[in-house]
Amino acid sequence: MSRPLIARIHPAALQNNLAVARRHARGARIMAVVKANGYGHGLRRVAQALWNADGFAVLSLEEAVSLRDLGWDKPILLLEGMFDVTELAECMAQRVTLVVHHAEQIAMLERARPASPLPVFLKLNSGMNRLGFRPRDFHAALARITASPNVGEVTLMSHFATADEAAGVSGQLEIIQAVFANLHHPVSLANSAALLRYRTTRRDWVRPGIMLYGASPFVEEDAHALDLQPAMTLSSRIIAVQTLAPGEAVGYGAGFIADRPVRVGVVACGYADGYPRHAGTGTPVLVNGQRTHTLGRVSMDMLCADLTGIPGAGVGAPVVLWGAGLPVEEVAAAAGTISYELLCAVAQRVPMSEA
Ligand SMILES: *Cc1c(COP(=O)(O)O)cnc(C)c1O
Repeated sequence: MSRPLIARIHPAALQNNLAVARRHARGARIMAVVKANGYGHGLRRVAQALWNADGFAVLSLEEAVSLRDLGWDKPILLLEGMFDVTELAECMAQRVTLVVHHAEQIAMLERARPASPLPVFLKLNSGMNRLGFRPRDFHAALARITASPNVGEVTLMSHFATADEAAGVSGQLEIIQAVFANLHHPVSLANSAALLRYRTTRRDWVRPGIMLYGASPFVEEDAHALDLQPAMTLSSRIIAVQTLAPGEAVGYGAGFIADRPVRVGVVACGYADGYPRHAGTGTPVLVNGQRTHTLGRVSMDMLCADLTGIPGAGVGAPVVLWGAGLPVEEVAAAAGTISYELLCAVAQRVPMSEA
């Protein structure tokens, strides 16, 4: 028998989550964000499940090529645009839509000799201070790209820094509204959190990512309450059982010491699989469908689960690390991180299959 760790991807959940996004989008077109290998779920598999989206957003030209190879005909947005002028010819060949966020990219577009004009999303930095033109520079940038014969349709975009937090979007939205006032171009603003929470951010294109994979972007509102279903279940099995006497420890650094007799299940999943090493004792895990928690440190290939209260669980008992029955957000919170990081970090060595 092979190692029991497996990531199961649920196409029906992806489809359900896209339908939820549609409902919130109220007619806005959906640019499904599938960067980072479909948030770790596998780009091709995710694209096939989300084929009813109106566009896909990716990071690299290679990802765009994969989507075109699948037969995807609709828009593909390159979220950071092209990195260098040599990519432009291929961008044109692949009919990619470019984010333009920096003057250097405009210069590249102006110097190019394209066979046909390229559609562009021009990015406003409305306060995130990562990518985009400052409000005072935005109109000049827009004038420059609309004057270039190499540029086709122009959509205006911006990105929110705190749509998932109490601060919300109002500060940035005010800036966006002031800069975009009287400009007659399509607009794209909302990530998952903004789409779910702030109607005024919808506009022409929305850009949901995490919600499509069935995780909530909010700390205080879970995925189930938002009608989202987890698209990945990471599962394994118990491969050994130890019974600790009081005073005995388990794992590296003797990170957990028993104060009573404790049955410990050793699970085939470790940090080399992408499970977070910072998840301390007490991180939730399901064994035989019952909720329990980890004990001691996560090691490279294994972690330990408390089998107290699950007397029927022995070697071979099924374990869910996250997914169906155990939201990845909970595991992420226990490890001091966010669901995005865990989903993207599932290691290459973990087999993935559809279920
Ligand atoms: C990743 C990304 C998104 C999607 O964000 P979620 O929080 O996953 O919904 C949207 N827009 C841009 C520009 C992004 O980089």
